[in-house]
Amino acid sequence: MARYTDADCKLCRREGCKLFLKGERCLTKKCSFERRPNVPGVHGAARKKITEYGTQLREKQKVKRAYGLQEKQFRKYYDMANNMKGIVGENMLVLLERRLDNVVYRMGIGASRDESRQIVNHGHITVNGKTVNIPSYLVSVDDVIAVKENKREKEMFKSLKDVKVVYPKWLEFDNTKLTGKINALPQRDDIDLNIQEHLIVELYSK
Ligand code: SF4
Repeated sequence: MARYTDADCKLCRREGCKLFLKGERCLTKKCSFERRPNVPGVHGAARKKITEYGTQLREKQKVKRAYGLQEKQFRKYYDMANNMKGIVGENMLVLLERRLDNVVYRMGIGASRDESRQIVNHGHITVNGKTVNIPSYLVSVDDVIAVKENKREKEMFKSLKDVKVVYPKWLEFDNTKLTGKINALPQRDDIDLNIQEHLIVELYSK
């Protein structure tokens, strides 16, 4: 499937919520969703009756787009979650949250998940002292995530010491040493997306 190349902000307007795809800009008045929250396109402002299937589909698209995944990749997380003990929808969100690119984003190393994915792809991140350039790598408890030592003088990493980030409680990050740790696996309550994951489970279980 082709990768989406249109404006990221249209995705937020399409899904009717902020997906935080553009880093800093999402927190400012420049946010397109704040200025024009209607669905993009000529008929975007018109009200449409949404079917049960449509509601489930939109919920799935919201999560898929927030984490920047293609359908095939996203479906894999559902299948993995379905084979685990516990609540499928919650398992799926926790798996997505454990992706290395998401962890790099949560630690504030990248301003968005997209930027964080590039940072990982470019080999700037180590896990337990070894370079990992796979954005989908799933972190585990006690993993030490760090910016590679020979990359720390790059301006984009040096400037992190001045950035204020609210870290989720399941991880920690020292923005002067550019090193962090996974203290626990994320729980559903730690995931700040306004999602009804049971709708995604209903969609995929049809
Ligand atoms: Fe979405 Fe961020 Fe664009 Fe706002 S600025 S519409 S939150 S991607």
